[in-house]
Amino acid sequence: MLTGAGISTESGIPDFRSPTGIWAEVDPLEVASIRAFRRDPERVWSFYRTRIHSLLAAEPNAGHHALAELERRGLVGAVVTQNIDTLHSRAGSRDVVEVHGSIRSAVCLHCLWTEGIEGVLEQLEQRTAPLCVHCGEILKPGVTLFGELLPPGAIERATELARSAGLMLVVGSSLEVWPVAGLPLEARSLAIVNRGTTPLDGNALVKIDAPAGETLAAVVEAL
Ligand SMILES: [Zn+2]
Repeated sequence: MLTGAGISTESGIPDFRSPTGIWAEVDPLEVASIRAFRRDPERVWSFYRTRIHSLLAAEPNAGHHALAELERRGLVGAVVTQNIDTLHSRAGSRDVVEVHGSIRSAVCLHCLWTEGIEGVLEQLEQRTAPLCVHCGEILKPGVTLFGELLPPGAIERATELARSAGLMLVVGSSLEVWPVAGLPLEARSLAIVNRGTTPLDGNALVKIDAPAGETLAAVVEAL
């Protein structure tokens, strides 16, 4: 299983690459890159404060619930996701590999302390950026910023999962962001559910151009 922004659009979270997505209004390099964080972490946090609140206000949709159900039935091994919104876990999926990190924590780049979202939100009530409780440095959002490496181990685990899968199902990803976009090439076979084309449509056994929620709910129903 590999999921991208398309599975969360039905939860009211616009695909950030779409013309109406957040990057149509702000320059990601200014608010969501590692360079911006090193230059002006408070500006990055003023962006993420709003983003975290809106992502936490969103609810898992039929697509997230269907994948959690398929995992419970032993039909889905694990969910590798490009999404940072935590909606898979909140829908009940247990094995979720968040290859671009998530909003569930923030990390200190100085001493590597990881602070949970509750502690981060509490601090954001008081100040413009949360601080490390150990060394006092400003924490970095637990999301992979532009220009940053992926979380250690995540892409390795995702590659292993892809190689061992009988079928890799891609949902709601246009497969444009590397290295994640290369994962389906590691799998024995491939099925894609996505609005619009992807560069790997020709490699897929099945390609369904439809919304994720209704498609996955129909799969669960049919099984
Ligand atoms: Zn620290």
